[in-house]
Order: sequence, then structure tokens, then C-alpha cells
Amino acid sequence: MGKHFDTKSVHLSGMEEKKINSKSTPIYQTSAFKFKDLEDLENFYQGKNDYLYTRVGNPNTDELGAAVAQLEGAPSGVAAASGTAAILAGVLAVAKQGDHVIAATDIYGGTYQLLANELPDLGIEVSFVDFAEGEKIADHIKANTKMVYSESISNPLLRREDIEALGALAREAQLVLMVDNTFATPYLCRPYEQGADLVVHSATKYIGGHSDITAGVLVGHEGLIEKANQKIVNLGSSLSPFEAWLTCRGLKTLSVRMERHVANAQKLADALHKHEAVEKVYYPEDVSPLGNGAIVTIDITATCDVERFFQSLGWIKIVPTLAGVETSVSYPLATSHRALPPETRDQLGITEGLIRISVGIEAADDIIEGFNQALNQAKRN
Ligand SMILES: *Cc1c(COP(=O)(O)O)cnc(C)c1O
Repeated sequence: MGKHFDTKSVHLSGMEEKKINSKSTPIYQTSAFKFKDLEDLENFYQGKNDYLYTRVGNPNTDELGAAVAQLEGAPSGVAAASGTAAILAGVLAVAKQGDHVIAATDIYGGTYQLLANELPDLGIEVSFVDFAEGEKIADHIKANTKMVYSESISNPLLRREDIEALGALAREAQLVLMVDNTFATPYLCRPYEQGADLVVHSATKYIGGHSDITAGVLVGHEGLIEKANQKIVNLGSSLSPFEAWLTCRGLKTLSVRMERHVANAQKLADALHKHEAVEKVYYPEDVSPLGNGAIVTIDITATCDVERFFQSLGWIKIVPTLAGVETSVSYPLATSHRALPPETRDQLGITEGLIRISVGIEAADDIIEGFNQALNQAKRN
């Protein structure tokens, strides 16, 4: 250590020798890691110590990847800067120039844009197929097909994917099955255990749970995760340590949050079914013995004035995301599905009065009351 104030103030060495056993994982808010000598540095490249540079690896992002892998029952996991970054890493771990990917038509709008707009520029061909008609998927498999992509519960119409059937189809044709499990979470559904090779999350949603981070996690077979990790490192789409730490903190309460989320959603779906101003309620059945998810979508096109409905929501906010502890609503036509061609929107049932409700963890009676009064005020006579 130098003698001068200017040197001492830069090096802050007071903690150097202390071994501190903190209960929660510290935030390794560092861009790089230091080495004692050249042998110590060489050890990194020999795989004997773990960390060199945060874009390449960090204890907080590793903790998140490993924790989600464990909950999904998968051997390996990696974190990324967003759900979208994790999806791209998973796809590029499998498909390269000249390859072909088959994806469900009713996937998340941002994923649709990624696959439809970016993959062709990389020389990867994509076919969008209506997976609701299972047997037709096989007709789209070509010699260069490498991957089948779907979501365990679709958005915003909440179609439940038959993952076991897709897994069987993918195995038979030697394709990788990748499933986005964001809406269901491993609390309700574990696609890896049902035959998916890669499972991806927008951890921005239920895994983080508090609408205060943007993060993604990809889990699956070890070899595929290793390749995906290389893509994340090389494309510069690693997650920051602080975001990873916050996401891990959220993850600790996933189970208790989901328990309340799904109980409230079931009660709200039942109440909305009975409401005369609701034309249609989309809420899946038989997702899991623990419940059917926490997103409820309604169609009020013919029965209500949509603008008035959104103006009458009181404490329930309009938010173009989902899965926070607060109940919120979104308008797929103007947000998540804005980028879809009108024909595709019509085909998918994204109507003018379609409202997606992300049911929070408040008291169920307050949530039901909030929607009842908005519907009553917006109802056409
Ligand atoms: C939000 C979302 C994504 C994209 O995640 P980001 O973290 O915003 O990149 C992907 N899939 C689903 C189902 C989502 O809800």
C-alpha cells in the first residue's frame, strides 16, 4: 500500500483480510476480479477458479442461473440481461446460418419480433405455426430444422401448451424443444421435466416479482447452456450483479407470492364469468394441482366502452407488463401485440376489447370490487 492519501483513498484496503460470513449473498458489484500472481491468473484459464471479468461470469448472476435451474429440475442455468437476451442466446446455441426454427404463432409479441425480424438477418429461417393443431407441426419440419419453440402458457389468450407431446415430437425428429415458462413459473409447471431441452424465463416477471428489474434466465441441458453462455458473453448480454441480486431476492418468495396470485386469479376469473358485462373470460384449466396461473384475460368488445373501462379502474393501474405484486391491466392491442400484422392479430383473437389482467397479491375482495365497478361504469346500455 502506498503512503500517500491519494493512493490510500483509491485502494480502500480495510476489508482485505477479513472473512465475513454474511447471511445473504453479498452483491459482487465489480466489473472484474483480482489475481495474486500469474499462476493464480493461469488457474482461471485452467478452470480452477471461477471469476475473471463480470461480463464473463459473476457470483450473483451464477447464483440466479443455478437457483432457477434447481427449481426447474434442470442440470444447468445461465442468467442474461433480459428475457429477450436469454431467448436469443438459447436460439443461437442451437441454430446457425442456414438452419430453420419452428415457432408457435401465439408467442409473446417481443419474441415474435425477435424471431421474425432478427433471425432472418442472421440467415436463420423461421416458420410460425398454429400449435393448437398439434399434428400439423410435423408437416413443417425440414432437413435444416433445428428447434421447436413455444410457451407453456400463451399470451394473452392463455392457451396451455401440451409440452409432453411437443417433447415427443421434437425427440423423434431430433430437434431441440425450447419453452418459455414465464407465465406459469416453475411453481406451476416444469417443462424440462416434461421433455423440453431448454426453458427460458423473463425473470422481469414472476421470478423477480416486484417490477423493479429486467432480467432473463435460461436453463436446460449442460452442453446447450454452455453454448448459450458463450453467446451471452460474446454478444455482451450478461446481467448486472445488482440486477441478479435483486432477482434472487425476489425468487426467495416466489412460492408464497404464487400461492396468493393464483388463488386471487381463480376468484377473480369466477367473478368475471358471472359478470354480465364480460363477453368472454380466458383463464386456463388444469395447469397444475396448485392452480392455473395469475393472468386472466377478458373480452368486453361488444358489451363495454373500452376507454371508459380504462378510465374507471381507480387504484388498478394500466401497466404494459405483468407479474408484479400489484394488480394491473394491460391492453394487448396497443402494447404487446402492436407489432403483429393485423391479419395475425385477428387470427389470434386480439380484439379491440381484449384486456389482460395481471392479478396481484392484494385482498381478493378488493380486486373483484375494483373490476366490478369499472365494468359497471363502462357497460353499454
Ligand atoms: C416479458 C416477456 C418476455 C420478454 O422478456 P424481457 O425481460 O422483457 O426481455 C418473453 N416472454 C414472455 C412470455 C414475457 O412475458
